[in-house]
Amino acid sequence: MVDLKGQYHKIKPEIDNAIQRIIDATSFVKGPEVKDFEKELALYLGVRHVIACANGTDALQVALMALDLKPGDEVITPDFTFIATVEVIALLGLKPVIVDVNPGDYTIDMEALKKAISPRTRAVIPVHLFGQCSNMEEIMALARENHLHVIEDNAQAIGSDYRFSDGAVKKAGTMGDIGCTSFFPSKNLGCFGDGGALFTDNDVLADKLSTIINHGMKVRYYHDMIGVNSRLDTLQAAILRVKLNHLDDYIKARQKAAVFYDNAFTGLNELIIPARNPFSTHVFHQYTIRLRSLSRDNLREYLDSKGIPAMIYYPVPLHRQKAFQYLGLQNKDFPVTEDLCRTVLSLPMHTELEDEQLEYIISQVKSFINTH
Ligand SMILES: *Cc1c(COP(=O)(O)O)cnc(C)c1O
Repeated sequence: MVDLKGQYHKIKPEIDNAIQRIIDATSFVKGPEVKDFEKELALYLGVRHVIACANGTDALQVALMALDLKPGDEVITPDFTFIATVEVIALLGLKPVIVDVNPGDYTIDMEALKKAISPRTRAVIPVHLFGQCSNMEEIMALARENHLHVIEDNAQAIGSDYRFSDGAVKKAGTMGDIGCTSFFPSKNLGCFGDGGALFTDNDVLADKLSTIINHGMKVRYYHDMIGVNSRLDTLQAAILRVKLNHLDDYIKARQKAAVFYDNAFTGLNELIIPARNPFSTHVFHQYTIRLRSLSRDNLREYLDSKGIPAMIYYPVPLHRQKAFQYLGLQNKDFPVTEDLCRTVLSLPMHTELEDEQLEYIISQVKSFINTH
């Protein structure tokens, strides 16, 4: 699914130098390179503040903590996402309100979102799933109208560009009040362990976020608010500074592989290839196809027998997870997510895919379709 070793070998001297520099300086926690990385990422994204933290899940939790929500306040999130998005809502004593997604780009369904807004709704967390932005123009308009905070879950779409109807272009994660991302090794900008970050243009929020991740403390041993310990290791920051320089090339490599798949699969009736929405570039964290009538599980087994990994993101909708049974949600209210969880399959997608590898994967997918 990913080739982290191949990617490392291409930039080994740069990475090894960065790691050795930190070891020589022994500034493992809160070293100066964390601030350097934050500044460089802010410049890349075109956002005023980047605050690094320990992982993407913490970023989401800290973002919610900064909004002064009260127990029972409602936060809306899509049904088709990784568990972290909804977990943090519940963890803070807030009420997750789960809504269905679009069948095309798999991001939050605007009609379902509108219907879910109640007098207790305080925030919405759109997820830019698989590398493509949610409909941020409509989400931001709806949020302004209803006085909602917007936290973008940008763990999968770093570097993606969103185009507003007036022609303005903004990077994924910089349009809402707060953007959150993850530097988990397999993400589009991955470090060598866990890492995450928050983005915001709001100076007051930025100050609060950086205080919360540091035990609620600005002056050492004086704690202004209840916080957490969530830091990005200096080693990870140094590695990320190197990889950030390559991010645009990594995105191009993913997009090239996606076009290769698209061209090969166009015209195959059995497959639904990833839809491109008109307002966002796609950075292909995943290349996720759907099968119309054949069994997705059988295709996965077949590919596995040919030495090709394929993954199911995600097999179970949030509303059907055991942990969220207490919400008492009904399958019939989430027809699209139900269908996606039955039919999606993600093919190998990374920065090191060679044409021969792609051709082999494609030929095996086609051979499965032709023989079943
Ligand atoms: C990976 C991911 C997260 C969580 O990031 P971690 O760094 O693993 O905590 C949150 N949301 C989405 C959509 C993700 O893909």
